[in-house]
Amino acid sequence: MNSHLQKFDHYSLFPLDEWRWPNFSPLEMACRGSGALMVDFDAMDCLQALRDDLGKPIYLNSAYRSPEHNRRVGGAEQSQHLRARAYDINLRNHDPRQLEAAAQKAGFSSFGTYPKQNFLHIDTREQPARWGEPFPAAPPQEAQATRQPKASRPSLPRSRRDRWGRIRSR
Ligand SMILES: [Zn+2]
Repeated sequence: MNSHLQKFDHYSLFPLDEWRWPNFSPLEMACRGSGALMVDFDAMDCLQALRDDLGKPIYLNSAYRSPEHNRRVGGAEQSQHLRARAYDINLRNHDPRQLEAAAQKAGFSSFGTYPKQNFLHIDTREQPARWGEPFPAAPPQEAQATRQPKASRPSLPRSRRDRWGRIRSR
C-alpha cells in the first residue's frame, strides 16, 4: 500500500489548509538540517491518533530527515526518517513502556529504544522491527519522587520575623 507522500523544499511551502494534524506544525516535522519537509499522510495520522490517545504533548527530536542531514547525524542508510514515517519522541514527559504500547495501538509497527539519549524511535514500516537497549525499570524522575520523603524545613520562631519574612532583631 502506497502512502500519500508530499515533499517540499522548505516546510513553509506546505499549504496550511491541507495541514490536518492540529497538535503538530510543519516546522517541527521538517528536516532539522535543511528545513525541507516530506509528509507521509498515513504516518502523520498515526502520530495524531497517538497524541489524541495520550492527551499530552509529544516532543520530537527528529522526524523527516533529508539524505544529507541523515548522513550528518549518523542515521541508518535505509532510515525510515528518510521516508518521513519515523519519529523520535523525547521521553521527558512520557513513560517509555506506556508510550510504546500506545504507539502500537495507534498503528506504529517498529520501535527503537535509546535509554541513554532518552528517546523512543517509532515508525510505520511494513515489516515490524525492534532494536535498542531496554529502558531502566522506572523512569528516574519517578524513582526519585518516591524515594525522597518531603523534607521538613526548620524555620525560625515566628516572633523573630516580620510579615515579609525578614528577621526583626538587628
Ligand atoms: Zn529515529
